[in-house]
Amino acid sequence: MSTIESNLQVVRARIAAAARAAGREPGDIALLAVSKTFAAGEVRAAYAAGQREFGENYVQEGMEKIAALSALPLVWHFIGPIQSNKTRAIAEHFGWVHSVAREKIALRLAQARPQELGPLNICLQVNVSGEASKSGVAPEEVRPLAEAVRTLPRLRLRGLMAVPEPSGDIELQRRRFRGLRVLLERLNAAGFGLDTLSMGMSQDLEAAIMEGATMVRVGTAIFGERVKT
Ligand SMILES: *Cc1c(COP(=O)(O)O)cnc(C)c1O
Repeated sequence: MSTIESNLQVVRARIAAAARAAGREPGDIALLAVSKTFAAGEVRAAYAAGQREFGENYVQEGMEKIAALSALPLVWHFIGPIQSNKTRAIAEHFGWVHSVAREKIALRLAQARPQELGPLNICLQVNVSGEASKSGVAPEEVRPLAEAVRTLPRLRLRGLMAVPEPSGDIELQRRRFRGLRVLLERLNAAGFGLDTLSMGMSQDLEAAIMEGATMVRVGTAIFGERVKT
């Protein structure tokens, strides 16, 4: 068994244990394998172990892997910061974008999404950590941004995403994730019909699942430590 395959088994077992502890069905939590900085060959090894959904943070790097692996039935998620001049490449090559935090970016994605690909799935990235993080829309701006994105053609608003500040304090982790869940519940009470809470990474996926995550984004625990560049 490859290291990636055994790592995936461990991660799936962690997800299942956390789900059961939370009284949830393990199958209700999707696993996104975050392959940034890793090669197409490593994505292929994860695919061989049954993984289908992959997340990338950098457009150029992601597009190279998407091209190299185009024969495989993979779903690609863009999860990194979005520059305006990269929206076309993202809209043409990815199935999901988790990191939308500005209306202008959503508009550009909508304009660039090729009709034949079907709608681009969107999560709004929310800054749930206040001063401790600069990425994401402020919680009080989520509703107006969601209203704007909902009206755009070729986009399908699916839910919310957050990357809280790293913390070893599980109560703090849970508080941040709970904040995101409450925002999603408010939008759904207003009729948005959202089904995705993208939260939880290698270090904090248990806390995220306890608070209702429907998709966890896991890199290190599957592929190993990233070499810092
Ligand atoms: C890198 C990254 C991840 C994965 O982080 P790990 O700690 O390696 O699991 C998840 N989400 C986002 C947005 C990332 O940038």
